[in-house]
Amino acid sequence: MLDNATPVDWRFAMKRAIRSSDGLRAALGLEKQMFSQGRPETAGSEPVRLSRTPEYAGTIQSESNFPTFVPLEFLSRIQPGDPSDPLLRQVMPIEAEDLEVDGYGGDPVGDLLVMPEVGVLHKYHGRVLLVSTGACGVHCRYCFRREFPYSDASVSGQSWDPFIRYLESNTDIQEVLLSGGDPLTLVDEKLQELVDALTPIRHVRRIRVHTRMPVVIPQRVTPSLIDLFASSRFATWFVIHANHPNELDADVLSRVGKLIDAGIPVLNQAVLLRGVNDSADILVDLCTRLVDHRIQPYYLHQLDRVRGASHFEVPIAEGLEIMKLLRQRLPGYAVPDYVIEQSGTTSKTPLV
Ligand SMILES: *Cc1c(COP(=O)(O)O)cnc(C)c1O
Ligand code: SF4
Repeated sequence: MLDNATPVDWRFAMKRAIRSSDGLRAALGLEKQMFSQGRPETAGSEPVRLSRTPEYAGTIQSESNFPTFVPLEFLSRIQPGDPSDPLLRQVMPIEAEDLEVDGYGGDPVGDLLVMPEVGVLHKYHGRVLLVSTGACGVHCRYCFRREFPYSDASVSGQSWDPFIRYLESNTDIQEVLLSGGDPLTLVDEKLQELVDALTPIRHVRRIRVHTRMPVVIPQRVTPSLIDLFASSRFATWFVIHANHPNELDADVLSRVGKLIDAGIPVLNQAVLLRGVNDSADILVDLCTRLVDHRIQPYYLHQLDRVRGASHFEVPIAEGLEIMKLLRQRLPGYAVPDYVIEQSGTTSKTPLV
């Protein structure tokens, strides 16, 4: 059985993560054929509508490019024996990923066109995104960066100097977004180095940490990590990433609560995903659970059309219908903005 009753250090949690689809199936008591062609019902009321693609899990090409990676802490929230579990669907490679679908490519949001320095994305006014590392605490099959050339285009393992020089010479940048990959896969010493390097740059006032680690490996949120940001001179914001209420278990919520207690506001972004959260009921549950714990829903993203993720797409018209129901059922501050990212634009584009 899963030996994750006792919390382990987050680095060990990364080391012991499951790294193959066979391992994932074995851990959950699933057979390959359970993924074949079927249209399983969800545990809730609505049948899962697998729109265009049959679902089966043979040996797939894309798993060699973007390997399975699931920490036991996330695994423990997946229902054993259920091939249609909404958390499993986010991390389980299936054969539909190998389909070549028109309009789905390797760099759907045009990131590689806007890199003034290695690992630096400056698309929007006043804020700049640092691809701080290629590593993540989980591999999400729908990820728009699944083909991102991290080894050439992240600052992982390199010096922060070119980035710092870029910031120094762009005095209109007020906010630095730490992204990746997942910046919280960097050790505290590395993050401290970065915060220290940013500290003398007076026009930078805010740090925003985009991370899924508090959700997938919650023990990453240690007192020393909190202190690292809370004791800096920056207003620090966290943006976490959960798509389904089952991701938010007691440990996740209590760790995130500690960030908020320390004065760090926490927002959540989600991606609208077929078979995961494509219903108003599920998103109402997600948003309610978030605001009950002082986390504010920020964005609901339309899927970026990255190669291998077409089976996750929900048509925009359907997303708009879901948004209408969310507005009817939630307080205004609990309704995320439904947005799409388009290359060449200077902000996310709201879908209304
Ligand atoms: C999404 C994104 C941001 C942040 O956008 P906000 O609307 O401020 O959350 C910043 N830079 C890049 C390159 C982005 O893709
Ligand atoms: S954690 Fe974020 S960056 Fe990493 S695979 Fe998931 S969606 Fe992509």
